[in-house]
Amino acid sequence: MPAWICRTCGVQYPESGEPPAACPICLDERQYVGWGGQQWTTMAELASDRAVVLREEEPDLIGVGVEPAFAIGQRALLVRTPRGNVLWDCVSLLDDAARAGISELGGIAAICMSHPHFYGANVEYADSFDARIFIPRADQQWVQRPSPRIEFFDDDAEPVPGITLARIGGHFDGAAVLHWPAGSEGRGALLTGDTITVVPDRDWVSFMWSYPNLIPLDEPTILEIARRAGRFRFDRVYGGWWGRVVLHDGAAAVRRSAERYVARMRGQRP
Ligand SMILES: [Zn+2]
Repeated sequence: MPAWICRTCGVQYPESGEPPAACPICLDERQYVGWGGQQWTTMAELASDRAVVLREEEPDLIGVGVEPAFAIGQRALLVRTPRGNVLWDCVSLLDDAARAGISELGGIAAICMSHPHFYGANVEYADSFDARIFIPRADQQWVQRPSPRIEFFDDDAEPVPGITLARIGGHFDGAAVLHWPAGSEGRGALLTGDTITVVPDRDWVSFMWSYPNLIPLDEPTILEIARRAGRFRFDRVYGGWWGRVVLHDGAAAVRRSAERYVARMRGQRP
């Protein structure tokens, strides 16, 4: 029996003879059901005309994407550490070449995701690499494929020693970031998916309740996101897509972007 994958959000569901009746993640107002109605695929079908690509972002940080792009089109990130590797966010496809490539890089000890839109095929990745999965308790309701590997946490977790997973909220109550102190040549990197999204002007980031439907967040939530991210020291911010990276002074970019967001909501313009 196949484990069905939603064609719009790319999230994988448990094995079943028939596809699920609906995708709760796409029915939520932060997403949308595809214009042609709910459609499903399988990993075997995806593998017939797509492939996983592994591409180095910086030393010990490998982007994991799918080409041609599928569903939301995010790329995940494999953080390599001496105490085990962490897969940050996930994609919908795991093919033989990726399995071999990731094994060569040291495999995966833990998987954690910024938010439910990037859950992808996380259980399939975890089963393949015997990895732990960390999900914030606040987003427990969004888990579509249960697994005994999933460990729920409240505000912080340490998926491998030296790496911090922190729930900072906003886009989802459980929206999280991953702090990698060794990133950017030891200046630190914050991996954010679109909990904090890196915008085309890469000196800036933004924050939304819904990205596809452009539903904003409120002032107290924006300030709280900035406060919670502010406890970390980081130079780079890695958003959820290829190229969406604040290359330097990321902590200041998050701070001034939160301030600008609040100022615009108050009607203040440059
Ligand atoms: Zn969906």
